[in-house]
Amino acid sequence: MTKRVTTRGTRRTSLDGTRADILVCGASFAGLAVARELAGSGADVLVVDRYAVGERATSACAAPTPWLHAMGVTDSIRQELPDMTFTTAHGTARFRLPWSWSSFDYRQLCELLFAQSDARFETAKVHGRCPGGVRTDRGDLHAPVVVDALGWRRVLGASGYQPPAAPLSRGLEVHPHSGGPDDALDIWIERDLVRRGYGWRVPAAGEQRVGVGSYAPRDHVRRPTVALAERLDVDAVRYQGNWFPHRLRPATEAGVFFVGDSAGHCFPLSGEGIRTALYFGVACGRELRAVHAGEQPLERALANYHEFSAGHRRAFRRALGLQRLLPVIPPRLLTLGLRAFGRQRIVDRAFGWYLRQADPAFARPRADAS
Ligand SMILES: Cc1cc2nc3c(=O)[nH]c(=O)nc-3n(C[C@H](O)[C@H](O)[C@H](O)COP(=O)(O)OP(=O)(O)OC[C@H]3O[C@@H](n4cnc5c(N)ncnc54)[C@H](O)[C@@H]3O)c2cc1C
Repeated sequence: MTKRVTTRGTRRTSLDGTRADILVCGASFAGLAVARELAGSGADVLVVDRYAVGERATSACAAPTPWLHAMGVTDSIRQELPDMTFTTAHGTARFRLPWSWSSFDYRQLCELLFAQSDARFETAKVHGRCPGGVRTDRGDLHAPVVVDALGWRRVLGASGYQPPAAPLSRGLEVHPHSGGPDDALDIWIERDLVRRGYGWRVPAAGEQRVGVGSYAPRDHVRRPTVALAERLDVDAVRYQGNWFPHRLRPATEAGVFFVGDSAGHCFPLSGEGIRTALYFGVACGRELRAVHAGEQPLERALANYHEFSAGHRRAFRRALGLQRLLPVIPPRLLTLGLRAFGRQRIVDRAFGWYLRQADPAFARPRADAS
């Protein structure tokens, strides 16, 4: 597989006036899912990102295994994690899930998604809208259809989104080179570690991704991340951090499609945003396919996609309610609740419901997938 690098220096020629049928801004989970869904549609799709495809990982890279199968990216899997543990100040509960998580290699996953598309790619930093397209640091790009898959900043939206005032969580993690103790995705819900949030460890075959997320954007997470790494006796090295949204936002605005974190498509409570970015990316790509095939006007696609996203409001609200509740449950009660929850029938029901909120069956398997 070719290793792409971000176009720099004199190779960063002007793209001013470049035209495409569909312009996808952002080449991570959401943008690449849109591009992949458009493969074979005949549309001239241009994907742009400030970095080369897969160059900058944006997360701990754990997703439900059935989704990785459905998107044809199983080759990127590093380790399958059939269990989850939840640790509070008063004990640990271990669950066997009805489906598994898998940690994966970000670059490889992005390249596999991109390889399934027939899109063009250019590195460019997107600054905002311009008449008929978007303004970038390499000039204005023109397309009748524009997708913002640029992450939580929602660069192509009318109003900015600034932490700490915006409904965003923050996360930071370290990536030490050492294997995890076993095949479980570990979660810590301890107020002494983080007041409103949780810690995690994602084993990834010879590497661990250890981090802390806070639902309260004003609470810093560096100290708890280092504390968790020390507790697990791993080196606090190779830091990576970002914001992630915990509230849905309108999925369309002024003729632009917003997908993934730019539309708040990241589950509150769990902070899981990869699966949902893929899910809503597939949905957006399908609407755009129908537009290109002349089966519906662009306005219809905008309305359909907007309604599709808003149709998930209840599940997102429910998760946000739980996110607010979690930090105020007395720790002993939480521990008892987790132990009671440990009955397999309840685990299967709860995690089954959770997976169905963005079901892998929605992603049509592609015949040419790996
Ligand atoms: C520390 C941490 C760990 C996480 N771990 C997990 C996890 O294990 N599992 C999970 O499901 N979720 C996880 N999340 C959440 C998850 O990372 C996001 O929800 C997910 O990345 C959203 O995907 P996206 O494609 O919408 O946006 P992003 O992945 O943020 O991608 C946005 C893309 O746009 C590009 N871009 C941004 N601005 C510009 C610009 N101006 N011009 C050009 N390009 C630009 C970026 O380079 C990037 O490629 C984690 C989040 C954090 C912070």
